[in-house]
Amino acid sequence: MATNLDLAELLFPEVKGTIEELEAKYPARNLKEGAEVTRFAPSPTGFLHTGSLFTSMISYTIAKTTGGVYFFRLEDTDTKRTVEGSGEQLTSQLGEFGIVADEGYFPEGDKGAYGPYKQSERREIYKTVIKELIKRGRAYPDFCTPEDLDAIRKAQEAVKALPGYYGTWARDRNLSVDERIEKIKAGTPWVIRFKSNGDHDRKTKFVDAIRGEIELQDNDTDVVILKSDGLPTYHFAHVCDDHFMRTTLITRGEEWIPSTPIHLDMFRALGWEAPRYAHIPSIMKLDHGNKRKLSKRKDAEAAVSYFLESGYNTQAILVYLMSIANSNFEEWTIANHSFDLKEFTFSLEKMSLDGALFDMDKLNYFAKEIMARIPVEELFGEVKTWAEKHDAEFFARITSDEPYFKKILNIERDRPNPRKDYAKYSDIAPLTRFFYHEEWAKMLADGLPFQEKFDKETISSFLKDLSGKMLFGVDEPTWFAGLKEVGAAHGFATDKKAYKANPEAFKGNVSDFSEILRVALTGSRMSPNLHEIIEILGKEEVAKRLNEVAEKALA
Ligand code: GLU
Repeated sequence: MATNLDLAELLFPEVKGTIEELEAKYPARNLKEGAEVTRFAPSPTGFLHTGSLFTSMISYTIAKTTGGVYFFRLEDTDTKRTVEGSGEQLTSQLGEFGIVADEGYFPEGDKGAYGPYKQSERREIYKTVIKELIKRGRAYPDFCTPEDLDAIRKAQEAVKALPGYYGTWARDRNLSVDERIEKIKAGTPWVIRFKSNGDHDRKTKFVDAIRGEIELQDNDTDVVILKSDGLPTYHFAHVCDDHFMRTTLITRGEEWIPSTPIHLDMFRALGWEAPRYAHIPSIMKLDHGNKRKLSKRKDAEAAVSYFLESGYNTQAILVYLMSIANSNFEEWTIANHSFDLKEFTFSLEKMSLDGALFDMDKLNYFAKEIMARIPVEELFGEVKTWAEKHDAEFFARITSDEPYFKKILNIERDRPNPRKDYAKYSDIAPLTRFFYHEEWAKMLADGLPFQEKFDKETISSFLKDLSGKMLFGVDEPTWFAGLKEVGAAHGFATDKKAYKANPEAFKGNVSDFSEILRVALTGSRMSPNLHEIIEILGKEEVAKRLNEVAEKALA
């Protein structure tokens, strides 16, 4: 009578290694007490999801703050979903956020002693473990066709039994070794299933590092662990890889909570200690008053590329994500006047459980705060790098005169409460285009937004006069005093009280003639500090613009 040993040999004759050898090859890591080994394990499906960035940031932060290791594993066992080039894309996008793995898959080649870090290159390891499970009677070849499985599902539905391949519904679970060998020899296609010892009426308990104790029904399903294409399923690959890579803390999406009993069942069967789990909440979005998961199909912001393309500062994104990761983060930034993530102590216990809500307004708030604090030289470099990739026209404009553009970027920046106009690099071009004569000329041609209440003659004569009298190279109060003088000469009040007492006697007040000047120079009723603007534009350009507007007003 044939034994499981014969069956294992028949299925995997090429596999010669043992679990003991793997244990020796991938020894326990020599790390200090409390150091966590975490990982980010994406599937190469073509893009980095914002939720994945969130998870990887948390994994990275935990490893760094505990003196542990953070590694990157590419989970490419679902060949139908694999998109060519995703590995490069994922690592390079994470790299833009400074989330660089200590070890793992890198497009230029693996780094680290616990590899390979790409699952499709780990077949030998999976098969070694599976061969051993077969020998121990804890895994078996299953010969069900999709039609057979469909028939089982229908029969279960008919008697209202739970779906799945378990207990008496697991058709091939109790075949004899001889029967199995016969089918294999006859060339019947097979997959390998794990043979669960679980009992659906019992509970499995585990402590989640975020949620505390979780109690779920024990697993009694004989899940597929090796598919017909020779690659493992997620369940088995996770158990095997995180064991041999010596992960101490699994940080993964909360959608994996229901499968955890399967994984614990396998860890038990293999006699391995399971790592701890931290199931990270999904990123949610408020959609017409309802909370729902951020969706790749519906929401542009579900893809990290969206933020990179529109030019968000990567640090700002991380700061925002940290604010949804830990509820005390925002308070901390205010108390410490800091956005330096390295100084903040992240804590899994402080994660909110009811889903992290993604709010663009909040992100923009953080982004503006952070952009405003970046020293101008640094910001210039970031904007230039971004523009080179994403906005050729803007790139040409800013590189035509770099010192000029730096002055523009620096407006109201070097001060305790800097100006906060920009949430992302793409906000800069439209808000600064008026500084460039050709752009300003287009605005003039389209018509400047002067208020109706100012008559053309007043606008024209005031600007014409100002073009010769504007003071340059003086401090702001002196400049403003000069401006007021010209305003007064054209019938505007320069004193608030006098204007209030008798508005009819004037053409307007200080804010009115300032607005006329602002509209003439910037094409808008809102702008940064006018004095800084005229100094940047320079005497010649200012005079030119004022004269052109004065002429056009009367034309
Ligand atoms: N490849 C899995 C996924 O993308 C990883 C889950 C895990 O981190 O274990 O969902």
